[in-house]
Amino acid sequence: MLEWKREVFSLIKRLAEVPGPSGYEDPIRSIVAECVKDYVDKLWVDPWGNLIGLKRGSTGEGKLMIAAHMDEIGFFVSHIEDEGFLRITPIGGVAERSLLYQRVLLKTRDGKLFRGVIGLKPPHVAKPEELQKVPELKELFVDIGASSREEVEKLGIRVGDIVVYDREPVELVGDRVTGKAFDDRVGVVALIEAARMLEKPKVDVYLVATVQEEVGLRGARTSAFAVSPDVALSIDVTIASDVPGVAKNEWYTRLGKGPAIKIADGRGASGLIAHPKIVNLLVSVAEKYKVPYQMEIIPGGTTDASVIALNKEGVPAGTVSIPTRYIHSPVEVVDLNDVYYTALLVKYFAEEVTPEWVKSVKGFVLK
Ligand SMILES: [Zn+2]
Repeated sequence: MLEWKREVFSLIKRLAEVPGPSGYEDPIRSIVAECVKDYVDKLWVDPWGNLIGLKRGSTGEGKLMIAAHMDEIGFFVSHIEDEGFLRITPIGGVAERSLLYQRVLLKTRDGKLFRGVIGLKPPHVAKPEELQKVPELKELFVDIGASSREEVEKLGIRVGDIVVYDREPVELVGDRVTGKAFDDRVGVVALIEAARMLEKPKVDVYLVATVQEEVGLRGARTSAFAVSPDVALSIDVTIASDVPGVAKNEWYTRLGKGPAIKIADGRGASGLIAHPKIVNLLVSVAEKYKVPYQMEIIPGGTTDASVIALNKEGVPAGTVSIPTRYIHSPVEVVDLNDVYYTALLVKYFAEEVTPEWVKSVKGFVLK
C-alpha cells in the first residue's frame, strides 16, 4: 500500500473506532480539532458542538462552507432488566436486520467502555414463523455478561448510556477497507485532508465538522446560520450499489471510480437539487486536474447540504460523495482512492472559487 493510502487509512481507523453517535460527538471532535488546527486561521466550537475552522481567503470576500458530519448511528440504553440484560433504542436510521449477534461497545456517562453482544432468544424455542422474520428491536437485548441489574448498576451503567457497533477497521484487498461509522468519518477524513492540502483560497473557507446529521441534519442547520455562507458543499457517503442482486441499470455509484458529484438526492429529488453551477464547477475542476469522478443521482437519503441550502435567503449548494457499500451496517466498505480523490476534488474546488463566481451564483437585480 502506498504511503498516502496508509496515512488515509490510519486516520480513518483513528476516527471510526471511537464511539460518537449523534449528540455525543465530543471525542471525534477532539481528534478533528487536533488534525486541522495548524491549517486554519480560526477554530471554534459552537453551542451545539459543531467544530468550525476558518481558513481566510486572499480577497476577504465571499464565504464557502464545507461540511462533513461527525456523528454515527447508535443506541441509547433504554432499560436494564433484572437479570442484567440491557434494552436499547436507536439513534438514527438503524436497520434491524443488521443488528443481530453484533458485538457492541457501551460508553457510560463517566466515559467507561464495556463490550457487549446483541442477543436474541435461542432459535430452538422460537416458533417456525419467527425464524422466517427479521427480529424486531424489542426482541433484541444487549448482553454485557452481567447477571443482575445490581451488577450492571455497580459498573456505572445507566439508562441513557450510549451504544455503538464494536468493529475495528481492517484492510480488505484492492485498497478497500471495512469498518463501522465510515458514514461519515471517511467524509471527515476527506475534510481534514482537504484542509491540509488547501493552498491560498481566494474566498474565506469555513470547514465545519457537524453534529447530529443522522437524526435530521441538525448541526448543519445551526452552523449554517452562524457561518452564513454564500455557497456550500457537503462531503458524505453515498450508496454504492455495485453488488450482486442489484440490477446494473440501478447501480448508482461504484467503488473505486472516484468521488461522486451529486446532481440530486432524496425520493423524487426531495433532498437536494445541487446547484447546476456548483455541479459544473466541480466537473470542470475534476477534468482540469485529472481527478476521477462519477455523477450521482440517488432516489433516497440526503445530506447536510440540503439544509445548508435553505439557510436565510438560500445558499447554492452541492455534495461530493464517497461511494460506500453496506451503509449503516458494522461492515461498511470504502475504497481508499475514493476518499483521497474526494479530498483532492474538494481542495481544487475551494481554490477555484472566486468572489466574482460567488456573485454569479447569488442571484441578480433586474431593475
Ligand atoms: Zn452520512
